[in-house]
Amino acid sequence: MAFPEKKIATQALANQAMATVRTWQSGRTDGLECPICSAPGVIITDRSARPHMSWFIFNCAACGLDEALAIPSGSHATDHES
Ligand SMILES: [Zn+2]
Repeated sequence: MAFPEKKIATQALANQAMATVRTWQSGRTDGLECPICSAPGVIITDRSARPHMSWFIFNCAACGLDEALAIPSGSHATDHES
């Protein structure tokens, strides 16, 4: 196999990953739960390079997760829905 199996493979998992990003964006960086295996300690890295798309890299030592998730920014993002 040339490529490892994609872990964030379903819409439900993508939604879970997005929820994790939102929690992370709200300022909580410790003990974030992995969207795949639910282990605490997943690391999220913002790799956003374009104005209308956000890229977040997920790293989890527990399950080996190492994947990017793209989230369209849509309208200009503000800190609403607090
Ligand atoms: Zn994990």
